[in-house]
Amino acid sequence: METREILMKNGFAFKKQYGQNFLTDANLLSAIVQDAGVDGSAAVLEIGAGAGALTRALSERAKKVVSFEIDKSLQPVLAETLAGCENVEIIFRDFMKSDLPALEEELGSYHVVANLPYYITTPVLMRFVEEAKRCQSVTVMVQEEVAARFVAKAGTADYGAVTAAIALKGEARITRKVPRTMFYPRPNVDSAVVHIAFEEGRIPTKSEKAYRETVRAAFSSRRKTLENNLISAFHLPRERAKELLFKAGIGEGIRGETLSPIAFARLADVLYENGVIANCS
Ligand code: SAM
Repeated sequence: METREILMKNGFAFKKQYGQNFLTDANLLSAIVQDAGVDGSAAVLEIGAGAGALTRALSERAKKVVSFEIDKSLQPVLAETLAGCENVEIIFRDFMKSDLPALEEELGSYHVVANLPYYITTPVLMRFVEEAKRCQSVTVMVQEEVAARFVAKAGTADYGAVTAAIALKGEARITRKVPRTMFYPRPNVDSAVVHIAFEEGRIPTKSEKAYRETVRAAFSSRRKTLENNLISAFHLPRERAKELLFKAGIGEGIRGETLSPIAFARLADVLYENGVIANCS
């Protein structure tokens, strides 16, 4: 039976607040599984099982799939669509309230795959970027504008704190564009799949926390220069801010959005080594 029929048969009511636009096209689903680099060697953590079409496609290739779904009313639907998928565990809970270290313990090495509503995609992604220890990659379906922000290059309008934070862990790539017609029900925007393969030590830095604080400070006001943002974020006298920027090899009058992730790491190291950002792990 088709997913749509199963949803109808169970009297499922779509909830807009959860971004419930489901995928059904078999070719697209297997392409996403391929984009995610899923193979039998690692587990998959899916966020937002929906009607289970992607979950099923993932289960055919992965060692194991643990999938979160916030909407308990999908329980009877998933029981049907995932019948016979022995390696799938569905957890009916808000992923943002889950215990990531405990999950990592259960999963071992894993890939994240998620097709989520736009308002939660960035917080979910940042959880993996900032907290994950055993995550190999993150593959997310996002609206096109958000995808452009994730993969933006320094100096462009789309480049921001999130782009620089992601870059510390891996290179974000758009693997495919997905028109709105591929979803049921149809949303008002087109989407894209973004894949980030995590690489340990991709951008060497003395402290990841210092890197994140530096990036946050640099983008705290886009209208201000980097120097002025550092002054307000770290309560520095102007001369001290100038000296630190000089030590990091960054010229005067520069704005944060023009700094590459490598330059951010250099600046973060200077701020860390000079005691501006302390107690960092
Ligand atoms: N993976 C399915 C697919 O591709 O067809 C469903 C995608 S649908 C865009 C997003 C799903 O995420 C919905 O089923 C929604 O209920 C669920 N969801 C939204 N917020 C969530 C959260 N915080 N934790 C877990 N699931 C969530």
